[in-house]
Amino acid sequence: MEFDTKAIHGGLAKDEKGDVKMPIYVSSTFLVKDLEKPMETGYVYSRLNNPTREALEKRLAMLENGKFGLTFASGMAAETCLAMSLLKAGDHVVAFDDLYGGTKDLFNNIMKKNFEVELTYVDAREPENVKEAIKSNTKLVWLETPTNPLMKICDIKAISSIARRHGVLTVVDNTFLSPYFQRPLECGADIVIHSTTKYINGHSDSIGGAVIVSDENVYKKIKFTRDETGSAMSPFDSFLVLRGLETLPVRMEKHQQNAKSVVEYLKDNEHVEEVYYPGIKDHPQIDVIKRQMTGYGGTLSFLMEGKRNEINKFLTSLKIFSFAVSLGGTESLVENPAYMTHFHLSTKEREKIGIKDGLIRMSVGLEDPKDMIADLEQAFTAAFSGR
Ligand SMILES: *Cc1c(COP(=O)(O)O)cnc(C)c1O
Repeated sequence: MEFDTKAIHGGLAKDEKGDVKMPIYVSSTFLVKDLEKPMETGYVYSRLNNPTREALEKRLAMLENGKFGLTFASGMAAETCLAMSLLKAGDHVVAFDDLYGGTKDLFNNIMKKNFEVELTYVDAREPENVKEAIKSNTKLVWLETPTNPLMKICDIKAISSIARRHGVLTVVDNTFLSPYFQRPLECGADIVIHSTTKYINGHSDSIGGAVIVSDENVYKKIKFTRDETGSAMSPFDSFLVLRGLETLPVRMEKHQQNAKSVVEYLKDNEHVEEVYYPGIKDHPQIDVIKRQMTGYGGTLSFLMEGKRNEINKFLTSLKIFSFAVSLGGTESLVENPAYMTHFHLSTKEREKIGIKDGLIRMSVGLEDPKDMIADLEQAFTAAFSGR
């Protein structure tokens, strides 16, 4: 089955009633038919297994070309379960230094402080840096590519083969591109994670997360933690994400097409110092991009000039773009990482990875790019009208 077909048919089991869509199974508990075989139907209690959730998990596994999928109440719940399943006190993790803010918080303030998990952040754009950081107690290499918000790329194949040689598992957060543009398991990664909140669901109306793996033992460990911590996705959210996935291919194509139009506008704008987007001309990592990605996605960042009040005026003057965190929905969004998503990092940490005050992250939605560009133009004019 090809990708677009899997996005619509993957995971559906046609039952005798002939539903064309997956119903929402709301039941918390299921009938046992025989004391001798209490698990016969596969369904006992919805915290553990639920038909709607399972349909989504199968579809996600098919789209990522993995064997097993698991879904969670949020992307952070997925990451927490993964960390709790595969790490214990004294273990070590090598992580890309430019990760999602919540992921850094989980590692720095929970896994490290409460569970004594050691951590080394490296600039994973250079696979050698990962290699040098691996120690005898390293259990995971944790990557995101492209990173949030600076769109740095790392070579999944090169890094996962280094990790494998040391018996270390490679985790890739694939939220920014979705399996439509990048499939980390095919590049050699062991575990893929998603915030389904973003492109996978695609409509900014559900919070969720997913883990996709091919190794049955790893799957069982994570499923056990999820079942016993009770962090699975609800049947209703599972239904929403199943529906969202049907249009993933068409949405991703259009997000990308619109992002390219916005990038063209931004790179010629006098108030914009730099644009960060994997599809930018002469990207320094073009070789890796060509090898592991089939597209660039719809999220980008740019560095605008100006004082804090001018940046604030720009953000609050926008009308088509909503000034809000998150990404991957049909509507366009903008946010300021330094004061919002990455505010919990120290100024020094932000400077080290390059998150300046004027950095704006943008999720390019599905509106007409002419309206987006006109909106940006009027907001820039409003921002700098006081000069
Ligand atoms: C949003 C996001 C997460 C966290 O997901 P939630 O659904 O908000 O819990 C993790 N990683 C990346 C890259 C994200 O963008």
